[in-house]
Amino acid sequence: MNAPAIVILGSGALTTARRLQQLYPQALIHGLTERVTGVERSYQDFGATLRQLYRQNTPIIALCAAGIVIRCLAPLLLEKGAEPPVLAVAEDGSAVVPLLGGLAGVNVLAREIGAGLGVAAAITTSGELRFGTCLLNPPSGYSLADLELGKRFVSDLLAGERVRVEGAAPWLADARLPEDAQARLAIHVGSEARAPVAHELLIHPRNVLVAVNSALPHLAEAVRDALQGRRIALPSLACLLADEGAMADSALHDAAADLGVPLRFAPAQGSLVQMAGHAVPQSSPVAIGEHMAVAMAEQPLDLSGIGRPRGRLAVIGLGPGAADLMVPAVKTELARANDILGYETYVRMAGPFRADQVLHCTDNREEMQRARHAFELAAQGRSVVVVSSGDPGVFAMAAAVLEALHESADPSWHAVELQMLPGVSASLATAAQAGAPLGHDFCVLSLSDNLKPWAIIEKRLDLACQADLALAFYNPISRSRPWQLGKALDIVRLHRTPATPVVLGRDIGRPGQTLRVITLGELTPEQVDMRTMVLVGSSTTCTFAKAAGGTWVYTPRWYGTKP
Ligand code: SAH
Repeated sequence: MNAPAIVILGSGALTTARRLQQLYPQALIHGLTERVTGVERSYQDFGATLRQLYRQNTPIIALCAAGIVIRCLAPLLLEKGAEPPVLAVAEDGSAVVPLLGGLAGVNVLAREIGAGLGVAAAITTSGELRFGTCLLNPPSGYSLADLELGKRFVSDLLAGERVRVEGAAPWLADARLPEDAQARLAIHVGSEARAPVAHELLIHPRNVLVAVNSALPHLAEAVRDALQGRRIALPSLACLLADEGAMADSALHDAAADLGVPLRFAPAQGSLVQMAGHAVPQSSPVAIGEHMAVAMAEQPLDLSGIGRPRGRLAVIGLGPGAADLMVPAVKTELARANDILGYETYVRMAGPFRADQVLHCTDNREEMQRARHAFELAAQGRSVVVVSSGDPGVFAMAAAVLEALHESADPSWHAVELQMLPGVSASLATAAQAGAPLGHDFCVLSLSDNLKPWAIIEKRLDLACQADLALAFYNPISRSRPWQLGKALDIVRLHRTPATPVVLGRDIGRPGQTLRVITLGELTPEQVDMRTMVLVGSSTTCTFAKAAGGTWVYTPRWYGTKP
């Protein structure tokens, strides 16, 4: 099951929301922007938020009246598709009402939450009430072979029939089933590939591991064929296991995705049969051809004890600061991360984080060291995020991470799944607030001479000005670089008139942001600090007054004569 979303309308629900978060540490709290601060997610439209979560199959715990939730989700109920658990919980934690998602475990959630809050859950499902469990929703590690036949089975049972249990079904030990060894109805737990017989509820345990060699062509198909050949039900496949030397092999990842199972890696230890045997002790694995071995356990497999997943490293851009300017892929990545690395200010900006997430805050200058540390963690199979402000590829961590990888001969670093996730860079965030000063060709420069000679900055600046490009200056000034901006402006003034529009954006997208539109003639280095973005117009950049006060700045799309 995905981690639930806890949705609240006001800060009055925050205490209960935090208690729920202790039960589900992966759950994020979503709060209405204007009424709730300091939560992981902010939203503006309650109905749209609920519908989006529902469509994404995210379990929803809404801390508000059940009626509001019902009204918001009603339009979706006739659609076929996801039906995640949906619960209404009273703001003060005094009532828990499961509403939707009976087959997705809503009653299990309701009972857990009820136990956590010390109240009884309002369970109304007859099967649950009678038997104390939802037979159609076996616990994780098991899957039902056929839902429609299952519904019929449960209604027969509710009508008074008795039942026998075949195979190991430990979760039914506490259920109140009318058991009878001679019963016509049977719950059968097993891995055998076959259609359910009459009067049977067939449940497959996920207890099979297939060790594969990536050299095998059409991997997913071959695994399906191999299982079928041994009369093993496909839903019993718990995972694929491969040699960790093949961690970056995309054929393996494609096959696992195709089969819908996780992929684990272990050191190559002798044959595939030996590898499978090591991963599933007390099984008697068998080889299937040269490239596959199948191991079957008595119980569903616990993947946390089997090899390790491929590590992942994402270099992400937070955008300028405001949560609504962060791209959704970055939010998802932050939620899945085990480790978060970065300059402390940015790591804080990316939070809040859950108790199980490890933060590694470092000084802003230790870029290469941070990049190497990120690979060391990811190479252990962890999911690692390196945080940058704005975009990670603009004077930030993405290039440092690639440089560290390029310099490394360690195969475990090269096997890490590496991804850069973009963000809204400061020049673009500032430009958007001013209008469109970068609406035509422009040039982005860092004025910092920490990592490049000042002479090259002067040269590039001079050429960019000659080319009549609008200019965006990152790192314009700092305490250790006091004179550079003045020098840069001297060069710009050789090419541009004093009337050229200049935009100064400070802390854009962050608390206390300021935006000033001035001219090149008015600009002095004292107006600028290291948290400022400086945009200098080209010869065509112009301004006009906004109706609401302030100034629009834009550089037209055309150049030369207006078309
Ligand atoms: N990767 C970042 C840039 C890092 S360089 C990005 O894409 O935005 C740091 C410089 O970016 C700062 O000196 C400042 O010039 C600019 N900057 C970063 N965030 C800013 C913000 N919120 N408002 C204004 N300027 C910002």
